[in-house]
Amino acid sequence: MTATPRTTLGKVRAHQTQNEGLIFEKSSPGKRAYKLPPLDVPDVDPAALLGGAYRPEPGQLPEVSEIEVIRHFTRLSTWNYAIDLGMYPLGSCTMKYNPRVNEFVSRIEGLAEAHPYRPESLAQGSLEIVELLQRCLIEITGMDAITLQPAAGAHGEFTGILLVRAYHQSRGNPRKKVLIPDSAHGTNPATAAICGYEVQNIKSNPEGGIDVAELERIVDEDTAALMLTNPSTIGVFESEIHRIADILHAKGALLYMDGANMNALVGKTRPGDFGVDVMHLNLHKTFSTPHGGGGPGSGPVACKAILEPFLPTPVLVRKPAPATTTPTTTTPGAPGPSHLGTGETTQLGWSFDRPQTVGRVRAFYGNYGMFIRALAYILANGPDGLRQTTEDAVLNANYIRAGLQDLYELPYKTASMHEVVFSDKRQAARGIKTGDIAKRLIDYGFHPYTVSFPMIVSGALMIEPTESESLEELDLFIAAMRSIAAEVESNPDLVKSAPHSTRVSRLDEVTAARKPILRWKPTA
Ligand SMILES: *Cc1c(COP(=O)(O)O)cnc(C)c1O
Repeated sequence: MTATPRTTLGKVRAHQTQNEGLIFEKSSPGKRAYKLPPLDVPDVDPAALLGGAYRPEPGQLPEVSEIEVIRHFTRLSTWNYAIDLGMYPLGSCTMKYNPRVNEFVSRIEGLAEAHPYRPESLAQGSLEIVELLQRCLIEITGMDAITLQPAAGAHGEFTGILLVRAYHQSRGNPRKKVLIPDSAHGTNPATAAICGYEVQNIKSNPEGGIDVAELERIVDEDTAALMLTNPSTIGVFESEIHRIADILHAKGALLYMDGANMNALVGKTRPGDFGVDVMHLNLHKTFSTPHGGGGPGSGPVACKAILEPFLPTPVLVRKPAPATTTPTTTTPGAPGPSHLGTGETTQLGWSFDRPQTVGRVRAFYGNYGMFIRALAYILANGPDGLRQTTEDAVLNANYIRAGLQDLYELPYKTASMHEVVFSDKRQAARGIKTGDIAKRLIDYGFHPYTVSFPMIVSGALMIEPTESESLEELDLFIAAMRSIAAEVESNPDLVKSAPHSTRVSRLDEVTAARKPILRWKPTA
């Protein structure tokens, strides 16, 4: 295989747009992006109207024309890598393609412009979307109840462990500690700590799973829960999961599953069926809603019936429909009202009557626009399509594993699920680290994989292609990684000093984080 770096395009782009300066540098006094007609009403004095709230000096904003604004921000946008540009193999993050049908549906006027304070009787269509998504996610996870409120995975963890705490508290004792494997995502121990628990680490076994004998030894009446990622961050399915659940339940402890890796399970197996009591989903990972800057995220929490009384309020319920709510007019394009007044005796609505609730965790009902996108994705694929998605994600990860394992060290030989974790052991012997290889990958037109995580692998290269990638794209990626492995042998300095195709090469990441320069000062 020969690598075909996409640098030709990259270089042209670099030439045209990579030297874009600050928008303040383009500013010249009096320039405007618009022109308004002269006032045809009496002028007012804003200072008199607004009093102390009026700022006499205008803020120091750049003064530019419309095309300057457009070009500036469009050029900046080309500095970013995106899933719409190419493969984004950032392990653990499931950077899959966001299908345009999701965007289309979420922009339908009646959905996009529905107001959260609209009376329930006029919001039945919007609420049906919430209800149907909840039913789909409950079916997919095999759980009994769900809240869609949390705004991200970490927020879901927080909500889930609050449920655990409220459950134990209701039985007289919140308990003291939460067990977390050494391979866990950093948000897991952070969540446990912020919910008032001590974190106790559990070592992984040589297959990358939980050391069950060790677990059996340390679970006691002070254990509130185990937080387990399955498949683990090594990309390995926890085959002892039933026994793990039994060990916990025997001591009255609960099993929390970090569901960030559900892209390996959807349609194949259900956490509710293998003993999980509570879990979160990342709609922005598994269910194809936009990720990171394209967010916001959404981290629903699904649980078993024993935890349901503690769910955040409000909870979606069916209530008797008040006789007086039949609307006489309907808003064009607004979902819902059309079927009211046809003798329906119940309607969907929010219930706050939950004496044991942990309380609200998010304004309104969560990031509603993400619910529409996730539901569109689920319905567009259907059960068979979702299962196929899972199989393709696992197949793609294993294709990359097979294509690279002769050149990169594979610390865990256990079967890979949706991601594969190599280490830089062989390259490090020549002074090249995982971070160097990742930077060089940028020159080949790919977003880097996840670097140095999980922590139980020294010099980790964590690669998650997702089901989105075609065979051609996977081959291109493998070719790039193989080419870099060859460069490590023949020209290590080239790798060590990468990237060479970007606006700036290596940033001082520590100083950038510790001493950020956030304010532009005009030079006289
Ligand atoms: C992404 C991730 C999280 C956190 O989810 P966010 O939505 O980023 O808050 C937690 N655990 C694992 C294993 C993850 O991959």
